Amino acid sequence: MNRARAGHKYIFVVGGVMSGVGKGIATASLGKILAARGLSINLVKVDPYLNVDAGTMNPTEHGEVFVLDSGLETDQDMGNYERFLNRDLGPEDYMTSGMVYKSVIDRERNLDYGGKCVEAVPHVRDAIIERFERAAALSNSDITVVEIGGTIGDFSNALFIDAARVMYMRHKGDVVFVMVSYLPVPSTLGEMKTRPTQHAVTALNSYGVQPDVIIARSTHPLDKKRKEKLAIQCSVEANCIISAPDVDSIYDVPVNFERDNLSEILLNILQLEPKQSADLQEWKDFAAKVHNGQGDVKIGIVGKYFDTGDFVLSDAYLSVIEAIKFSAYTQGVRAQIDWLNAKAYQDHPEKVEELSQYDGIIVPGGFGETGIEGKISAIKFARENKIPYFGLCYGMQLMTVEYARNVAGLQGANTTEIDQNTPHPVIAILPEQIEKLAKKDYGGTMRLGSYPCDLTSGSIAQEAYGESTISERHRHRYEVNPEYVKQLEDTGLVFSGRSPDGHLMEIAELPKEVHPFMLGTQAHPELKARPLAPHPLFNAFIKAAIDRRAKK
Ligand code: GLN
Repeated sequence: MNRARAGHKYIFVVGGVMSGVGKGIATASLGKILAARGLSINLVKVDPYLNVDAGTMNPTEHGEVFVLDSGLETDQDMGNYERFLNRDLGPEDYMTSGMVYKSVIDRERNLDYGGKCVEAVPHVRDAIIERFERAAALSNSDITVVEIGGTIGDFSNALFIDAARVMYMRHKGDVVFVMVSYLPVPSTLGEMKTRPTQHAVTALNSYGVQPDVIIARSTHPLDKKRKEKLAIQCSVEANCIISAPDVDSIYDVPVNFERDNLSEILLNILQLEPKQSADLQEWKDFAAKVHNGQGDVKIGIVGKYFDTGDFVLSDAYLSVIEAIKFSAYTQGVRAQIDWLNAKAYQDHPEKVEELSQYDGIIVPGGFGETGIEGKISAIKFARENKIPYFGLCYGMQLMTVEYARNVAGLQGANTTEIDQNTPHPVIAILPEQIEKLAKKDYGGTMRLGSYPCDLTSGSIAQEAYGESTISERHRHRYEVNPEYVKQLEDTGLVFSGRSPDGHLMEIAELPKEVHPFMLGTQAHPELKARPLAPHPLFNAFIKAAIDRRAKK
């Protein structure tokens, strides 16, 4: 099943001029509008860096690490794809240069090239083509949309663009190139300039590739004059140049694309019959809620991956932010989200009092020591002041540490991630992880991906999910130490979610009578929250936050 059936269609999305203009959202939106025509779509992301996956990169470096069901650690764009398509993507839908090169080098070491000289072209390029075709075959979709990361002219994505060119030759009529470009409006001129896009198309032409469609990103809509100029200079039909001005909400992009008939244009080029007229109603209803939320609910995220130089980078928690927003919108409110630096609560303990203005507090996933005591103080404050609290992975582990120290009387309790000599290791390394860490075998070796979890009937978690067995995605090396479970439960902490064998504590909560919402999960539920399917635990957390707001 490694080859796509004949006639499978491909759309390659490449970037012109510069990065950071929303190529990922453009690709996700393109997938959305095609899916709205009744076609089955899979979206593939190519990251040209040499990391074998995104798991070893610091979030301030490259944004959030998005984990798939399979456990593959990928780029945050994969999260946008899944959210827009409302569909789980497979491990074959993601690739990096490192992944491709590694597979080629492994084959070479196994003598699989039969003594040949192994080269970037054709061998690495062929390996890329195989991956594109495998993604198409395994997805069982009508169209595979591939976003090639980086910008035209980069050294590092050249082989991927060349692979796409070969695909165009091999699958005549079944391959479309879309260039997402940028048209600056320099403030000194006040005029939109087309020249950088013309250059980008020339650069793409030098690879032997002609774009069929240009998505013209800019602060402003594209006017007729510039559209015609681009058409003539870039040899692209004027109607195939799509105006893509900045928007308040990324969820408006699919509808904007359809104003310029993008799905029709793409299907015409691909000679594919739509199965229905565009059905974006449910999506439009959701997009309207983004603009119409009434009243704010104030959520504080106590984390650490915010600063890069003078800039605040919320990308590190992208899925958490989106998950909060989906649950707020569906309950008719807007979430006002503040970034709270955990380290500040550590250095200035009195500062934690500021948390009383929040309707809900989240401690998201994280690693290492920075700001740990600050996070624990924030959790203590939320527990004592009955502020709804939601702990995600590290946030669940630290909720357990806080409870152990301050309620169960286990002085000096900690996670062994921070303190190997703690008298009470309430969070300890997963047994299968010990050897991996000792060998410095860090890449792709955490407990990753989807695992099932049984819920205690009548618990907050079980009532929120409405099911007794659930499945969530994971990314961790530590767990609640089984030796402390009884002691913690005897003092009131409820482990309401456990792995089916009963060994692993997946969800911790306090009973409703004790606290309106104090719940932590070892998993990352934010990875499965979708605009059209908000996550049940986020829904319950936001509901508790709205209740607190109402009481104020
Ligand atoms: N650092 C913790 C662990 O490895 C939590 C990980 C996370 O929050 N994703 O178990």
